[in-house]
Amino acid sequence: MNVNLELTDHCNIRCRMCSQSMRDDAHGGPKKFMSFDTWRRSLQGLRGMGEVALCPHWLGEPTLHPRFDAFVEYAFAVNRSNELFRTFKVHTNAVILSPERAARLVRLAASPGQAPDTFTAIHFSIDAFHPATYAVVKGADKHALVYKNVERFLTIRKELGAERPVAHLAIVVQDENWREVGAFVKHWGGLLDRLGRRWNLTADWPPFDADAIYLRRLNSGDQARSDALHASACRGVGIVAPTTRPDGSF
Ligand code: SF4
Repeated sequence: MNVNLELTDHCNIRCRMCSQSMRDDAHGGPKKFMSFDTWRRSLQGLRGMGEVALCPHWLGEPTLHPRFDAFVEYAFAVNRSNELFRTFKVHTNAVILSPERAARLVRLAASPGQAPDTFTAIHFSIDAFHPATYAVVKGADKHALVYKNVERFLTIRKELGAERPVAHLAIVVQDENWREVGAFVKHWGGLLDRLGRRWNLTADWPPFDADAIYLRRLNSGDQARSDALHASACRGVGIVAPTTRPDGSF
């Protein structure tokens, strides 16, 4: 069972493909930060629900929550024997990812008393290779910061000798960035190779057994065009995009 507990629907950038960034009331009301009491009670409510795959994100940027680190540390502290959740995954744009936070997340993945693959992955929404493209796609001049933060996370994980969480480096393929998908793959694949990591190149949601570079399909009003662009970008790097079902899903 996938459970998304949204720490916040605020975000610090404005991706052009994100509904959250286009509205001030993505949930029909003012944006908020989850209280600690709601987090605590929600986690306890997972008990007995079976194998829960927990993600502290839906819309918004979870690391923007002023108590993000404390919330995540608490979740792992109370998840003894995986009683509350079986797996945990973070999605982030990596704008706020200090070395201390990176090391803390890697260490949490080795929390005692839980299955070693509990903290499965961090999904990094990067979405561009060139700074100018990043500025257009992400609506913010944060390319250098994001690249530095993600590269540093990968290095810290290596220095700590950790396998997990695996990193999913994602680019949502669209008009503005499809020409640089090859450069994106070359850059991140080269770094993962230098760090001695196993990694996959995927056109659909990556598995959690290795790092991945994920060419993600854009959901759009012109789905046929988005699918064709995605398929073309995938072919350009030697992979095959999944076929779209009649209802628009993969
Ligand atoms: S970083 Fe995520 S939540 Fe923020 S605007 Fe981009 S896609 Fe939306």
